[in-house]
Formats: sequence, C-alpha cells, structure tokens
Amino acid sequence: MRSPLPAAFLALVAVLLAGCQSSKTTGFAYNNPTTLTIAAPTAPAPVYSAPPVYSAPPSTAGAPQCGPVPQQPGMLAGRTLPVSRVSDIKLARGEVVLTFDDGPRPGTTPHILDTLDAAGVKATFMMVGQMAEAHPQLVRKVASRGHTIGSHSYDHANLKRMSRADALAEIGRGERAIAAALSGTGHGLSPFFRFPYLADTPGLRSAMAQRGTVVIDVDIDSKDYLRTDGTTVMNRTLAELRQRGRGIILFHDIHPRTASMLPGFLNALQSEGFRVVRLVPGGATACGGRTS
Ligand SMILES: [Zn+2]
Repeated sequence: MRSPLPAAFLALVAVLLAGCQSSKTTGFAYNNPTTLTIAAPTAPAPVYSAPPVYSAPPSTAGAPQCGPVPQQPGMLAGRTLPVSRVSDIKLARGEVVLTFDDGPRPGTTPHILDTLDAAGVKATFMMVGQMAEAHPQLVRKVASRGHTIGSHSYDHANLKRMSRADALAEIGRGERAIAAALSGTGHGLSPFFRFPYLADTPGLRSAMAQRGTVVIDVDIDSKDYLRTDGTTVMNRTLAELRQRGRGIILFHDIHPRTASMLPGFLNALQSEGFRVVRLVPGGATACGGRTS
C-alpha cells in the first residue's frame, strides 16, 4: 500500500488531479500506455445505443430498507433510497449520500471499500469507463461489496464542449465499458450518471432523462483533488455539511488523501448524528420503486 508508485502512474494521477479541478480545464486524457489500455484513436466513434440493462445492488447486502424507517440512535447507516429520477432524491436533515468519482483505482478504492465496510455504510461509485476497462476486477469488487455503481463517461471528457451526438456516444461507451466488467457477476450498472467536471447542458440533461438515466448532482464538493492533506479535506467537507445539514457529497476514490481521511470523516458523521443514505435504482428493488 505504501510502496512508491511507478512514476508513470503518478503522472496519470497528476493528470486526474489537474483535470478535476475545473470545468474549464482542457483535456482529460488517460494517455499513459503503461497504465491503461486505450482503444486505437483511429477507431470509429462508438455508436450510441440504449443503456445497458440495469439491476439493483446485490441482495446479499440484506433486504433494502425503503423510505423513512426508524433508526437506532448512533447508527450511521441510513435508509436505502430507490431513485428513478432526479426528483426522487429528497434528503431529510442529517442525511448524506457518499459518492466516489473517477475510479476504480488499485490501492485507494479497496482501502475505501474496507473503510465503508467497517462503518457499515454503502456508497455510490461513479466510474470512468477507461478505468473500468483497466481494472475490471475492482469494478466487480465494488459491486460485490453491495455498493451502487454509476457511470462518469468513458474518458472523462468535457461533454459540454462536444456535439450532442459525440457526448451521448461518449456516455454510452463509458456505460458499456463498466457493464462489460460486471458481465456475468449478477451485478449491474445503475442508471446513475455524473457529468465530468459537473459540466452539463440543459440539452444533455434532457437527453439523459429521456433515456431513463438519472444525473447525480453534487451538493457538497470535498475538493479532495486539491493538493492538501486528508485532514484539510475532512474539515472542509464537515464544515460545509454542518452548514447545509444534508446533501450529496463528492469524493474521488483515486486519491490517497481521500482514503486516509475517510475513517475519521465517518466517525465524525456518526458522532454528529448524520445518516448515510444508500441510493439504488428505482423500480429494481424489493421496495417496488419510488417512495413518494
Ligand atoms: Zn470526475
């Protein structure tokens, strides 16, 4: 875990760091051939197709709790919330949703999974297609631990700068890459999507809604991509959370500082009475879909 990372991989991480800081950042490229397998750039653009078949997280994680349910004092795990559309995501005061973008990545993602397990909470991982292709075993591991997997484009392109057709092709390619990693596991990709750099457009959001994809927005940005230490990330995120009282929190499971601060962050959530809500696809759970 602590062994020095190959310089080439650090270079990749540096690109990720730079890429996530701003929607104005140009170019996000997983362009290191020693780290990731890349499709030939001369290949024809992928044809947009219907999204993969969606399914609920594994039943092995226990029967889902649907809607408001009584919670034991001090319990960090909150309810399971089936989501079919953006408007389904209504959080009560004290409720948070944990999301992790840009992975999976060896080292940090498994570390985060262990921390979430220890706390007994579930998160949503918004994966990049190219990362899923490079680390399919990690995609499967995340699913097998009972977390929800959404998509985050194929190569983290800024979709706002692309034609609608190209953007939808990029989104579909990312979904297919993640779905391929899950093929045969009994776990499926959820219809949840997050725009890279949070760079959306009304037209793309509308197109996503029409195809049954739920855009997962962000209420609280941990800014864990900034070059600070984990404690700073934790304190910044807690401060914003205390102010808002609830919300969807954005983390990135590709950063060691995020993995290192997560145990302390979850401890703080518990001690302050917050509950971690688990998002699952609506209509694919034992609850029969929407809660309201
Ligand atoms: Zn991202």
